[in-house]
Amino acid sequence: MFRSVLDKILQQSKIEGLQDDIDRTSCRVERVRFPFARFFTMKSPPITNEATLSSRIKQEAQQLGFELVGISPVAPPPHEQSFAQWLRAGLAGKLDYMRRTEVLRRNPQQLVPWAVSVISVGLNYNTNYIRPDPRSQKTGWISRYAWGDDYHALIQERLECLRDRIQVLRGRPVQGKAYVDSGPVLERDFAGIAGLGWIGKNTHLISPKKGSWFFLGELFVDLRLAYDRPIRDRCGRCELCVKACPTGAFVGPYILDARRCISYLTIELKGWIPRSLRPLIGNHVFGCDICQEICPYNAKAPITSEPAFEPRSDLYAPDLIPFLQLTESQFRQRFSGSPILRAKRRGFLRNVAVVLGNLKSIEAVPALIRALSDDEPLVRGHAAWALGEIGSSEATAALEHSLNIESDCEAREEINAAITVLREARRAVV
Ligand code: SF4
Repeated sequence: MFRSVLDKILQQSKIEGLQDDIDRTSCRVERVRFPFARFFTMKSPPITNEATLSSRIKQEAQQLGFELVGISPVAPPPHEQSFAQWLRAGLAGKLDYMRRTEVLRRNPQQLVPWAVSVISVGLNYNTNYIRPDPRSQKTGWISRYAWGDDYHALIQERLECLRDRIQVLRGRPVQGKAYVDSGPVLERDFAGIAGLGWIGKNTHLISPKKGSWFFLGELFVDLRLAYDRPIRDRCGRCELCVKACPTGAFVGPYILDARRCISYLTIELKGWIPRSLRPLIGNHVFGCDICQEICPYNAKAPITSEPAFEPRSDLYAPDLIPFLQLTESQFRQRFSGSPILRAKRRGFLRNVAVVLGNLKSIEAVPALIRALSDDEPLVRGHAAWALGEIGSSEATAALEHSLNIESDCEAREEINAAITVLREARRAVV
């Protein structure tokens, strides 16, 4: 019955385009719950003044939970040239999708030719948990953005809802396209020119009052709006983030060599982690956070009110050994709806093995020995490396046994290298 009432209201509103949206999950609940409120809103005169409309859009965005919101014109992003230089210098590593979409990233007018303005938003994901002292812990570290539910769908829905609300405010159909870390958009640049913050030396967008624990999203619209002004860079002489990076991934302030970044190595890189970088990864099994944790602007960062970002069980400073036993289907089930799925099972177990090796976790030896028989050569090879780091007679025997049966040449090379490490360690003791 509600549906028919709602259909009637929408017909009466004579606002084209809203009918189709009635089936969209994001706003359906809201519309069914508040059909009459929306009816009265529709009866309000359309807002045509750019400044008034922009201000109302920001209010609506804040009501949808976006703590940061700003508006800018659709134009080539300020860092499009340095982005191109970064690609040319090979600092993107194997982020091939960046290269493939370079032209669109540098020219948003080609991506969304009809768009006039872009509304940039930030959703706070900072929960009330701090990192345990790594010296007293034998646990792994998962980047805090991945503790809760995957943010893509959540923000996408809210941006689509925002678009619907803008249609009501403007009193006509509004063409809109939402991106959440999903399209070829230099989103920190747009957030920067919309005044949400500045891009710091750690390459994150930093709000002077709220820090950098934010997911960013953009809604491109075909409306002319009142634009915000960028704010100045406030890093000053600080270089804490550049110095704190365990792998030395900052070539200089504001320039990240993705190939050395722990987030890249543990999430984006699909293959073998370079042996020389493995010890520097420490206990990071998925992402890092160090260059944000050290930033003074995050010292008093507000806590999110989004329950979706609270840590799922076992993702805050997790025990790692049980992860090594996950089958493919258990992995998908265990991390359903979590950003961790992005690493895939073989990438995640690869990382777990590296961290167990770094933690010199003797209790992990039996699980690592079992991992020498994993279906994935990538997991077998990194488990071999970890056993080489930990040592023990069982580890040596297991490595020598697997060398006889290993058929993958890269995994064999890892086993050989681990055996060599253990032999050299033994010789050094004798
Ligand atoms: Fe800027 Fe210092 Fe924060 Fe790095 S740690 S982003 S240099 S303020």
